[in-house]
Amino acid sequence: DTSITIGATNDCTPITIGGASAQPVIMAGPCAVENREQLITTAQAVKRAGAQVLRGGAFKPRTSPYQFQGLGVEGLHLLAEARTLTGLPVITEVMEPGMVETVAQYADILQIGARNVQNFPLLSAVGRHSKQLPVLLKRGLASTIDEWLLAAEYIIASGNPNVILCERGIRSYDPQTRNVLDLSCVPLIHQLTHLPIIVDPSHSTGRRELVPIMSRASIAAEAQGLIIEVHPDPDTALCDGKQSITPDQLEKIVRETALLAHMM
Ligand code: PEP
Ligand code: MN
Repeated sequence: DTSITIGATNDCTPITIGGASAQPVIMAGPCAVENREQLITTAQAVKRAGAQVLRGGAFKPRTSPYQFQGLGVEGLHLLAEARTLTGLPVITEVMEPGMVETVAQYADILQIGARNVQNFPLLSAVGRHSKQLPVLLKRGLASTIDEWLLAAEYIIASGNPNVILCERGIRSYDPQTRNVLDLSCVPLIHQLTHLPIIVDPSHSTGRRELVPIMSRASIAAEAQGLIIEVHPDPDTALCDGKQSITPDQLEKIVRETALLAHMM
């Protein structure tokens, strides 16, 4: 099993995912960086709740061009400030090859979103970047496991072996949940590859009341971490409020999943 160090190059507490480490790595924070107060409040709260990585989108891939698109580079500056204040490494999405250099100046993990899993120029650009930052590669909305793993190969073949996979649900026909969480892919990925895999219970369900139980189920299925959307006031979130939980709910998930991982 490959073990990947997160946060080795910036001024924060480095952590390890994969390999022999048994504790799940919890990445948490808002879907989108909205403003300074929202991000800093959330960052401090997720740190108190026990998360080890701060998530936050600065560049947002939105379905509609009329929805909030993220703060862009200003969002990256705020993420860096939140890292300095909390010591948490940060994960944020990069959407285009031309922005890899900029995002890599600020991020500790580069996130490739579900919609870009087969953006081959982006995968290669992230793979070629000299920092070899860990890359979180989300599964595409309709990726087969083989397509997803070949996308990971693009990054690795371009020079960066530090790929973490993320199951975030796949498209199906039932609108009751946003996507269908394919939990069986987690043990399958362990059979097929040496790469670490985490689960996103937020985008896979689209419903905040399902996030705690699917978090536990993911760890029971041997996911090595979770990425969870957290907002201090989910109902007012500019993006994905319906699936966002509060810091208090996160604290319970951190506690329960740590116990579960310890028992396994
Ligand atoms: C996200 O994590 O912010 C996101 C947009 O997720 P996905 O790419 O899985 O839809
Ligand atoms: Mn989101």
